[in-house]
Amino acid sequence: MAAVSLEEARRLVLEGCRPLPFARERLGAAVGLATSEPVMAANAVPPFDNTAMDGYAVRAADTSSAPVTLEVIGTIAAGDTGDLAVGPGQAARIMTGAPIPPGADAVVMVERTRRQGDDKVVVEVAATPGDHVRRTGDDIRPGQEVVPAGTTLTAAHIGVLASVGADPVAVTRRATVGVLSTGDELAPPGAPLKRGQIRDSNRPTLLALLEQAGCRPVDLGAVGDDEAAITHALEQGLSACDALLTSGGVSVGDFDYVKVVLDRLSGGGMRWMQVAIRPAKPLAFGTVGAKPVFGLPGNPVSSVVSFELFARPALRQMMGHPHIDRPRATAVAEEDLRRSPDGKLHLVRVVASFTPDGTLRIRSAGGQGSHILTGLAAANALALLPDGPGVSAGEKTDIVLLADPLSLRP
Ligand code: AMP
Ligand code: MG
Repeated sequence: MAAVSLEEARRLVLEGCRPLPFARERLGAAVGLATSEPVMAANAVPPFDNTAMDGYAVRAADTSSAPVTLEVIGTIAAGDTGDLAVGPGQAARIMTGAPIPPGADAVVMVERTRRQGDDKVVVEVAATPGDHVRRTGDDIRPGQEVVPAGTTLTAAHIGVLASVGADPVAVTRRATVGVLSTGDELAPPGAPLKRGQIRDSNRPTLLALLEQAGCRPVDLGAVGDDEAAITHALEQGLSACDALLTSGGVSVGDFDYVKVVLDRLSGGGMRWMQVAIRPAKPLAFGTVGAKPVFGLPGNPVSSVVSFELFARPALRQMMGHPHIDRPRATAVAEEDLRRSPDGKLHLVRVVASFTPDGTLRIRSAGGQGSHILTGLAAANALALLPDGPGVSAGEKTDIVLLADPLSLRP
């Protein structure tokens, strides 16, 4: 089978993944989802002129010859209607967020006043109209577009939407994604390991990656290398999910039944690829009834790298996100990162960190075997080493950031 390039494999995968329908999501559950339509403000923010400070609402003209003594006519708290009209020579005690009363046009901070008895205040500085007043619509005008369509909602966007009462909000639906492990060697959870058995590490890892990618993960369990069991599990998964991930059984072993089953379920529509990358060479991708199915490799590091390169961007595209890829950067190798020429792009697990002067640098995160999960766990980036001898200390190379480069310190 001819090897396909990373770009070609990615193109095939992204082409097969259509956007999901929209849904109305409560703001409390919408962070990280992408808006499916623009959101217009139903009200101004602030909705009324209010004070930015605790102090006294005054008529600025009354204070021009400060210090002046004004008559205190009452107190306006946040939440009050603020109907107390302030006439010439008068002031109202006012608390942050309270409406500016009729007649007043400025606020003097309490620190610039001195109270005299119950009904007098000395204002020590002259106020200018508008002082400490937050005007209606300062932030948002009614009818204004506050969040465009196709915005990945951050916590601050949630705040903006809440401030205009846009709850629920129209978003592209969260993808429900099933994860199935395959292999006779996988021990049942909690049971002691018998000879020849291993723990199923791919399934919890992929479920966690889905959660972090903003999907709704569905655990489809593990099945042995058995055609009927794999068929049953995949059919169940397809009926409940928008997309499926399997791991194992997609290379050229004698018991790789995932291939047989997916070929049948997809009506021959699966692509079995050997991608010119290391790790994560084998990849199966296709759609079953328009639902994408990713047959990821069994080796633990390979399944993660394959998820990162193919499944994560595809699922993010399905969920309408404007940015589907992890951030990339250029980094300086702190040490030699050697490889041998083999026609493939190597994705090396590295630790990226900033030097005090702001240079992004990388070093190997440890063992690079496709079964060495601890090397992956120690890494926060993948260095992209093109075919050739690798990079020498001091040379630059491109990296894909898997985590904040400040999250791991050398
Ligand atoms: P396969 O792709 O089925 O040939 O599996 C390749 C390698 O990955 C083998 O060493 C498997 O034992 C291992 N493997 C497959 N599935 C899992 C899993 N769910 N967790 C950990 N290792 C696995
Ligand atoms: Mg297997």
